[in-house]
Amino acid sequence: MNGYHGRIAVVDLTARASREIVFDEDFARKYIGGSGMGTFFLLRFSTPKTLPLSPENPLIFMTGPFLGSGIPTSGRHQVVTRSPLTGIFLESDAGGSFGFHLKQSGFDGLIIIGKAGSPTLLTIKDGRIGFEDASGVWGKDTMDTDAALRAVYGKNTGISCIGPAGEKMIPLAGIFHDGTDARASGRGGAGAVMGSKNLKAIVAGGSAVAAISDRKTLTGLISEKNAVLKEKGAGLNLYGTSGGMGLCEELGDLPIRNWKQGSWKEEVKSITGQRMAETILTGNYGCVACPVRCGRVVGIDGRNVGGPEYETMAMLGSNCLVDDLEAIARANELCNRLGIDTISTG
Ligand code: SF4
Repeated sequence: MNGYHGRIAVVDLTARASREIVFDEDFARKYIGGSGMGTFFLLRFSTPKTLPLSPENPLIFMTGPFLGSGIPTSGRHQVVTRSPLTGIFLESDAGGSFGFHLKQSGFDGLIIIGKAGSPTLLTIKDGRIGFEDASGVWGKDTMDTDAALRAVYGKNTGISCIGPAGEKMIPLAGIFHDGTDARASGRGGAGAVMGSKNLKAIVAGGSAVAAISDRKTLTGLISEKNAVLKEKGAGLNLYGTSGGMGLCEELGDLPIRNWKQGSWKEEVKSITGQRMAETILTGNYGCVACPVRCGRVVGIDGRNVGGPEYETMAMLGSNCLVDDLEAIARANELCNRLGIDTISTG
């Protein structure tokens, strides 16, 4: 089978045991992608009566067939579970590098059930699952947790973790990836589900590569498409997703006072991606295999941290009538460190 390893790890935190689900190409074609497979396994592992914060609720990390192939913008993974915020289906898509490292571990996905007896760190590396004590990082924010784990497991590692909000099972808590870059499975409270399982973090890595039927042709296509994306995505590279703030305001598509107000013409100019580029922007970054590199790095109080995306700028900014870019960047960092979804917070 191409594009997949055909293996999904199932981890039972209560029993501190793991097993493997093997799937074939028919299954992969039927439920293609991280969202499709994640949804299939959510239905398989839960019932309509499963409570989101109960040990029975599966927390599922899944990847798609392109991840790991180098196909541009494929460096993403999906988290699927039952949401403590809505009580129903939750699918959250995140970029960064965690999905890539998960796939390199030799598994296409990870299904976590049960509840650990004490704060736990899960390792999934080179086809093996490990359970470690996480009491040393329990209580730490997401960026400090990432730094502490990277010091032990190395820089070239995928780390997903929760912050204090997830530990306390706040329904707005997300799962955060890549430390200061703060890529997030933000919506719907997946971080609270992780906290309810006493699972502080997952460390993933390895060198497994899924089969590709014609690597040479694919490599040619990738370099062709990378060039197109670089050209078409130049605005995103320069200004990030919040480069669209001004246009959204003009179109009446910017949340202002919970959509009660239609225009914010002058103020919005202070909180655009363009203004960020002129002021606090110190760099940019991209998800694995993406030539666009829309992620922002901003300098705040002497620290370089992930900057606000469009959604954050809109919800913590215009929606709350805040036109102070540095204040939004600080609030963004605080939410990311605590492990809270910036959109729901705004
Ligand atoms: S860097 Fe930006 S454009 Fe590229 S995959 Fe990530 S979110 Fe998408």
